[in-house]
Order: sequence, then C-alpha cells, then structure tokens
Amino acid sequence: MKDEITKLLNISDYDYYKYLLNQDPIKNKIDKNKIDYLISESVKCGEDEGDKLLKKYNNQDIFKIVKEMNLDISFTHSSETGYYGYFEEPNKIVIYNNSVEEAYEFFKSETDILISKEYIERVVLAHELFHYIEYKKPDLFINTYKIKLWSVLKYTRKSNIAYLGEIAAMAFANKLLGKDTYSHILDYILLYNLDKNQADIFFQEITN
Ligand SMILES: [Zn+2]
Repeated sequence: MKDEITKLLNISDYDYYKYLLNQDPIKNKIDKNKIDYLISESVKCGEDEGDKLLKKYNNQDIFKIVKEMNLDISFTHSSETGYYGYFEEPNKIVIYNNSVEEAYEFFKSETDILISKEYIERVVLAHELFHYIEYKKPDLFINTYKIKLWSVLKYTRKSNIAYLGEIAAMAFANKLLGKDTYSHILDYILLYNLDKNQADIFFQEITN
C-alpha cells in the first residue's frame, strides 16, 4: 500500500484536476484546447476567493471564520458513505465524523503522513465553505462558464461544467489552509473504503 500512496502523492494538483475534468458528465463537449484555460481559471477563482476571505477575516482559523460568517456547522455520523460532508443551502455545512475518522485511520496505518483528525475536518470544512461561496456568488467564473451542448436552428442548450466547482473548491482549501490538503488522497480513501476495485481503477487511471 505504501508504494501506491507514494505514487499518489507524486500526482500534482494540476494532473488531478485534469483527471477530474475527464470524469465530467459532459467531458465530450469540452474542447481539448480549453482544458488548460478551464483549470487555470477555476484554480484562480478558488484562490482569489480564498485570498479575499483571509484578508477579510485577518487570517483567522477556518472554524472561527465559518462561525463569524454565521454558517451552521454540524458533525454527524452517517450511514451514507462516499462523502466527507456537504453544503446545504442556505447556510449549513455537515461533516461526517465517521468518514473523517476512517481517513485519519488510513493515513495513520498506511502512510507516513502525520495528519490530525482536526486537520482533515478543516480540509472538509474549507472545501464545503467554497460551495457556500459558489452558491452566494453567481458571477464567479465557475458559475458563468458554460459550454454549448447542442444547437438546433435557433435553440441552443448550454450547461455548466460540474467539476470546475470542485477544482475551485480544492484550490480554495489549499489557499485557506496554506498547505497540502491531500485532496486526491482523501478521494482515494473514500473509494478504498467503499469499493477496493473502484479504488484500484482510480489509482490506475490517475497514475497512468
Ligand atoms: Zn465538492
């Protein structure tokens, strides 16, 4: 296992973002020449929002920032796996204790990375906080960028690219925490605990 983790750790954020875009339900509609642009704009979007928040709240701890923003955070145990938490409109962030606990145990037993449960909670919180900002600010790049799905005569259907928001959320979390947030390792652990075969496929695809 440690070999796999070592390989995963060597994956750059950019490569992971590229992999994610390739998972998007409408990936076939994405112009290959636009991939770099989409990733860099989404990362910029997440980082800019992170900078603004840190400035506004004087670089405080994320838990304090979220409290001052009057968001409601709840920690719960869930039978639903495959998530670390979620944002619920208008102002609620839910964190799954059991998923965080499982990730913590995985890091402890399978890797040499020293990471606390609180740190994993902060990563999840930062990620979901971005989804709140995404909801509050319709004019963000990730909300306004749309691609044409089809067009017949004068009718055109356009759609957002769902993974742009995920890329921005990860870049935002990196900015807010100021260090590595291990996004792709955390995603791998979720899969690993859910379905080892799927985790293997994920590992093969991403390290290829
Ligand atoms: Zn997300």
